[in-house]
Amino acid sequence: MKMKRRISLVRALYAASVCVLIALLALSSSLASYAATANVTVGSVSSANSDGYYAVTISVSDLSLKVKESIDIALSYNNLAFTIVKTEFSSSVKKYSSAGKSSDNPYHIKITAGTSTLKPSGKICTVYFEPIGLPAVGSYNIVTTATVSSGASVKVTSGSISVNCSHSYEMHSTVEPTCTSDGYTLERCTKCEGYRKTNKKDALGHDFKVKDTKAPDCTQNGYTVEECTRCSVHNIIEGEDALGHEFGLEDYKVIEPTCSKQGYTEYYCLRDGCDGVNRVDYTETTDHIGGEAVVTESTCQKHGNKQFYCIHCGILVKEERLELVPHDFEDTIVQPSCTSRGYTLRVCKVCDTVRRENPVEKLEHTYSSVTEREAGCVEEGRIKHICSCGDYYIESIPAVGHDYVKHSVIEPTHESDGLIKYVCSVCGGTYTETVKFDDGSSGSGDNSLDIESPGINSHLSGRATLILNVLLIITVFVAIGTVILLIKKTVSKLILDE
Ligand SMILES: [Zn+2]
Ligand SMILES: [Zn+2]
Ligand SMILES: [Zn+2]
Ligand SMILES: [Zn+2]
Ligand SMILES: [Zn+2]
Ligand SMILES: [Zn+2]
Ligand SMILES: [Zn+2]
Repeated sequence: MKMKRRISLVRALYAASVCVLIALLALSSSLASYAATANVTVGSVSSANSDGYYAVTISVSDLSLKVKESIDIALSYNNLAFTIVKTEFSSSVKKYSSAGKSSDNPYHIKITAGTSTLKPSGKICTVYFEPIGLPAVGSYNIVTTATVSSGASVKVTSGSISVNCSHSYEMHSTVEPTCTSDGYTLERCTKCEGYRKTNKKDALGHDFKVKDTKAPDCTQNGYTVEECTRCSVHNIIEGEDALGHEFGLEDYKVIEPTCSKQGYTEYYCLRDGCDGVNRVDYTETTDHIGGEAVVTESTCQKHGNKQFYCIHCGILVKEERLELVPHDFEDTIVQPSCTSRGYTLRVCKVCDTVRRENPVEKLEHTYSSVTEREAGCVEEGRIKHICSCGDYYIESIPAVGHDYVKHSVIEPTHESDGLIKYVCSVCGGTYTETVKFDDGSSGSGDNSLDIESPGINSHLSGRATLILNVLLIITVFVAIGTVILLIKKTVSKLILDE
């Protein structure tokens, strides 16, 4: 049991240490890739191509250039029997690269990262070497150094140019120099089929002749155009500076200001063919200027107006209101009657406005009288005065009173009173008068009544006397009432007549 436990413990420790080791390895490998050493490898070449050049490739790996960082690769050729002619960059680094001139020593190839990290990998360029004279058989090292601007380490593997053949050249072809490229004789080795250039002639340079000359004018400089007599390349030579305008003081025009534009004086360039203008003496903009009135005529209902718009900018400058035109009335005369006033009815033919003018007072009623009832002995008469319009008033005729005539007499005796009967000759109404018998005991003051009221017997009982007295008072009141009525009617008629 103890043994077994010890074995499992050893196994666990072993597993743990393996894990730690793996982790350390992973960490170290990631650190290693993070701080990689860039490699620059210069290739080797053994024979020239048909241009007579030895083409050597330069490659890089593990290179990472941050923004604006660069790698500088220097090729030293002092001790070589070769000189560098040109460098051709790979398309992937072309826009980040530059190369020194062939006369530089050492010759520099520089790659600079632009706006983002650049990781060139593989072949970055081809450098073309040209042999100086006729190099001896042997191997020529290309001495190379490389530095990165960040200070990161670079490992360089230098290349070489091997000359394996003691060449035996013979003439192959001749290239004449042009304006821009050299001429030479191309020879070919009969042993190794390599090439070389001899008998070099410098490029001729252009042979310019003046083709066109332009004198300066007011605004443009003068220039001369040259053209190469061999290759037609053009060259432009700057001439004299532009002359500037020559504004005269005589030839000018004053532009008046408007409401929207300043005024100014224009002077014109005197030089022939030039339309240069100089504007000076600016004047301030003016107020708006109203042009001819635009009239909208009035009607009898709506005011018309006159509008004045600015002759320059068209803005409404002023507006005048026009008076209304009078209505065009058609008149109809409406006559007055006893119930309504007369007037002139005016209706506008245009807008139908209606007016009533020239009022005339109502006419008086014209009454005709109709006796509705004749006055009786005790009843009032009634006359109705009526107008054709229906208006009327009633006139009362006072009662005329009875026309009593003594009809029969019964003489008093010593035992009984006498009786006189009166009858109205008009209506047949009656009343009787008692004549008291004289027994000598009477002598009451009621006699006055008896005198005024014929037929009232002093022998009548007290109750009859009371009734008679009441009747008398009523008669008096009726008489007074009738008189008041008469007065009232007379007064009202007087008022109506007025
Ligand atoms: Zn050869
Ligand atoms: Zn030319
Ligand atoms: Zn001008
Ligand atoms: Zn205006
Ligand atoms: Zn009208
Ligand atoms: Zn009337
Ligand atoms: Zn009567």
